[in-house]
Amino acid sequence: MNWTERQVNIKSAAEIAIMREAGRINAQTLAAVKAAIAPGVTTGELNEVAEAHQRKMGVYSPFKNYGDGFVKPYPASICTSINEELVHGIPGKRKLQEGDIISVDCGTVYQGYVGDSAFTVGVGEISAQAQKLIDVTQKALEIAIELMVPGNRAGDVGSAIEAYVESNGFFCTHTYTGHGVGRQMHEAPHDFTNYGVKGQGMLLREGMTIAVEPMVLVGTRETRVLRDQWTVIAKDRSLTAHQEHTIAITKDRPYVLTEL
Ligand code: MG
Ligand code: MG
Repeated sequence: MNWTERQVNIKSAAEIAIMREAGRINAQTLAAVKAAIAPGVTTGELNEVAEAHQRKMGVYSPFKNYGDGFVKPYPASICTSINEELVHGIPGKRKLQEGDIISVDCGTVYQGYVGDSAFTVGVGEISAQAQKLIDVTQKALEIAIELMVPGNRAGDVGSAIEAYVESNGFFCTHTYTGHGVGRQMHEAPHDFTNYGVKGQGMLLREGMTIAVEPMVLVGTRETRVLRDQWTVIAKDRSLTAHQEHTIAITKDRPYVLTEL
């Protein structure tokens, strides 16, 4: 753990309102990308769809040129991760094929605040197992969102995600996690995990804004990174899926900032 609870930024209602706009624009961008997904379309073309919408809205992606100084800066505005690719797939010349499943992850910076969200969908007809994987990942996110209320702990959320995923015979990565979101795409808590122990971990408090993102694999929880330094794949090359929303913890309800 490379952060402390004192570093977790608590947002005011005004900040959350701006983040809601960032999240709404992000959802519109993702909807435009989703509408363009079809056999024969390249992932680079999907990136162009996202960037065109971002330009129109006067926003930009925090993904572009993202890096820690150790890896080459991320070269695109979205991540497109196909089949065994779990997260951080780089858009390019690859054409989508009937039967693929693709995760699209997108971020938006609006008035200095970030929205971060991802979905996974099938390309044309997909296998029953692929559909189940997508449905389980989506449901895991919904279960997690319900638990994003003051007084719960991070371990309550993570353990519920993993219990649901494993009850369906799938696996959660323990290597990649959700995270705090605000003026930075990644801020404390830096490890909002898809596993945990009920009753343990960071106490959820009003005003926290966190990206919750179940990453689910069919055959293993082990991953590796391709030579492009970014693309994370299932070590056994089994299918994977990813769903993400940025959530504000409020007194009344979990507030999903990144839906339409
Ligand atoms: Mg994301
Ligand atoms: Mg994220």
